[in-house]
Amino acid sequence: MGVLEEKPRRLGGGQLRCPYCGLLQDRVATLEQDWVLLEPDMRPLAHTVPAEHRWIELSDGRVTVYGVCPPDQFQRCRIEHRLACPAQPLPDLWPWLTSLRGENARRVERRDDPKPPPPPEEWPDAG
Ligand SMILES: [Zn+2]
Repeated sequence: MGVLEEKPRRLGGGQLRCPYCGLLQDRVATLEQDWVLLEPDMRPLAHTVPAEHRWIELSDGRVTVYGVCPPDQFQRCRIEHRLACPAQPLPDLWPWLTSLRGENARRVERRDDPKPPPPPEEWPDAG
């Protein structure tokens, strides 16, 4: 994908073009008086999205992070376009898995993983 010449600009309906991939994203106000750029027409079930990346729509049209844990089984949420953007690196969605991978990488370097028991010299008779 080439570099886009046009700068991000406001379009009708509160949509902005992503400066990275050129796709449209919804610009939505948050409860914190800020803006978030959400993936249009995408409402996955909340429990399939990491907690800090779930945005739910409030009755006044604003959105807020849905921190309820465990999430309601049928609650839908929205996600930021940057998670779905093909031209941006994926952020760290599962930090505990990332730290586990780091810890395992250190174990590999130290080679201190427990050794499996040696296989028996001869397999016992199956009959
Ligand atoms: Zn994009």
